[in-house]
Amino acid sequence: MLPSYAVYLMALAALARRSRQGASGAGSRPVQKIILFEPSVGPERVRSIVEECGGKLRKSLPIINGAACVFPEEATAMSLLSRAGEVAWVEDDFVIHIAGACFFIPRPRPWPRKQTVPWGITRVRAPEAWGSATGRGVRVAVLDTGIDMSHPDLKANIEGGFDCINETTDVVDDNGHGTHVAGTIAALDNDFGVVGVAPEARLYAVKAFDSRGQGQVSDIVQGMEWCITNRVQVINMSFGTADSSRALTVAINKAAEAGIVMIAAAGNDGRRDGVLYPARDPNVMAVTASTRDDRIASFSNSGTQVAVAAPGEDVYSTYRDGGYKSLTGTSMACPHVAGVVALLLSASPGLTRDDVREVVCGTATKLPGFSLDQQGSGLVNAGAAISRVRRSA
Ligand code: CA
Repeated sequence: MLPSYAVYLMALAALARRSRQGASGAGSRPVQKIILFEPSVGPERVRSIVEECGGKLRKSLPIINGAACVFPEEATAMSLLSRAGEVAWVEDDFVIHIAGACFFIPRPRPWPRKQTVPWGITRVRAPEAWGSATGRGVRVAVLDTGIDMSHPDLKANIEGGFDCINETTDVVDDNGHGTHVAGTIAALDNDFGVVGVAPEARLYAVKAFDSRGQGQVSDIVQGMEWCITNRVQVINMSFGTADSSRALTVAINKAAEAGIVMIAAAGNDGRRDGVLYPARDPNVMAVTASTRDDRIASFSNSGTQVAVAAPGEDVYSTYRDGGYKSLTGTSMACPHVAGVVALLLSASPGLTRDDVREVVCGTATKLPGFSLDQQGSGLVNAGAAISRVRRSA
């Protein structure tokens, strides 16, 4: 599989990353690593290899035949290099950030007594699809800070979840970001609050990000594993990092093999050729943010990986503690697309991952004045997408 020199290359990359981050050279602090083992190493050997190398197992990650571990210092972790026949890869278990909380617009809004349809829901033409598709029964995971499980405008659609940080099914959103994302996908169509793109989709709260919006690669990988095991069909990933991770790439490949449609935020740095991972991965659909006047938001990262654009400015949705809030970012654009995918899968359950991508991109509306790198195929269009699959049914 991987040549053994890959381990040495990875060690160099890890050292380069640490120097980029300005880490002190003392090397005496505990370090967190993800280890990928050779295929010949079974799960029963994992703990002993880690302990023989002076580390402590934090969690096993079977989908990547790997483990998250803590070592007392960098030098001890590097002793893994002597296990070239068993250890395929070692990388830092680094922190990834959610992609949107920094764009909070602190504008107080009264809680809507009557249900309002947020502008983004209308703009992606979701109401045009609702006559024939509402996302009913489609299993969508929000891999994020959790979801407010008792939010009255979400509760009936929440099927379950898992907190990868504390390894419990008792999920709490102590940030708000995940609850916001969930509302854009599937807030209930009732007589109060807001409504999501796919108001009858089933939501799963997979928490890998803490109250500050930070999550470790290992927790994200574990969340993806949970999604595969629980036969989730769509994963919304409103987070990103400029650093690649082999562990994350392998997990994405496994989810793709399981047929899961993955949608991710392009990122909010306004950078050319700056699409972040996991959006940058070819198995993931990268989403940029559009504005109320149908422009691409200046904060959106662009690049050849961009699949489509969706509303990401001043997006009103559900929030923690039963609330509602407006947020801005590619994090908010991403769930509009996840919702459209849920609509498609409810209208036509036999669609493959490739079919979904082709229909979503093939029915998007080009925004004049913006390049392919900025908008991909254009603004996602739920009405047109549903019409297309109904015509071909
Ligand atoms: Ca509602």
